[in-house]
Amino acid sequence: GLAVSIRDLKKAYVLAGGTVHALRGVSFDVPTGDFVSIMGPSGSGKSTLLNLLGCLDRPTGGEFYLGPDNVAQMSDDELADVRASRLGFVFQSFNLLPALTVLENIELPLHYSGRLGRDSRQRCEELADKVGLGDRLDHRPMQLSGGQQQRVAIARSLVNDPWFLLADEPTGNLDTATTREILDLLTGLNEEGRTIILVTHEPEVADLTKRTVVLRDGLVVYDGHPDGSRAAL
Ligand code: ADP
Ligand code: ADP
Repeated sequence: GLAVSIRDLKKAYVLAGGTVHALRGVSFDVPTGDFVSIMGPSGSGKSTLLNLLGCLDRPTGGEFYLGPDNVAQMSDDELADVRASRLGFVFQSFNLLPALTVLENIELPLHYSGRLGRDSRQRCEELADKVGLGDRLDHRPMQLSGGQQQRVAIARSLVNDPWFLLADEPTGNLDTATTREILDLLTGLNEEGRTIILVTHEPEVADLTKRTVVLRDGLVVYDGHPDGSRAAL
């Protein structure tokens, strides 16, 4: 099936001085199991698109389906529910809560989705194991390297078994070797069937995805194999 289907998606910001057309008619599908990188110069609309995909904001035009559901027709409560229960977020700056342990950070989305239960602890331990931090359960983020912190964030993003992962420059704060480790982890998750959409400005990162969408001035100017995206950037 399709995880995401968008058609002629538009987003305009109305400001005192005029209207900014951040997305001017973007269309693409993301099949379940895909691994998509979104690229484009600064101001091309990447963050705007990510915010729409993450149900943090609504489009001002076009259609946006998450599976069978038309996001444009959802109430604010429904959007919040989708965000909390159905999507997994990974950020450049990890966004872990410093006062919480590794295990508690991984568990956090279960509080928001109302899915905390008898088997939660075991599930979080399994996820910590999966990302290679099974022996760090009681550590705080400050006691971990950047790569380890991003591993915790990835485990956290999986805890609700989301429809897809949205990653915003997930390796932007990491050195080359650690970047490679995190990308290997994401690639492994994709090989297990996880749908992943990531925004990056690094061609070396995009090269490890299955498909690259390039935005320019709010439009898709390339959608295909990462190899071919260079000319569009
Ligand atoms: P990118 O992430 O590719 O740099 P953005 O989506 O941030 O692109 O921005 C696309 C355009 O929309 C830019 O012209 C930007 O100034 C504008 N924009 C983004 N967010 C807002 C906002 N909240 N209010 C007004 N304009 C915005
Ligand atoms: P099933 O009934 O076996 O869950 P679905 O057709 O509901 O099959 O879903 C197949 C896959 O499509 C799911 O595993 C999920 O990854 C994805 N999916 C289903 N619904 C949505 C949705 N609303 N948004 C995003 N992805 C979805």
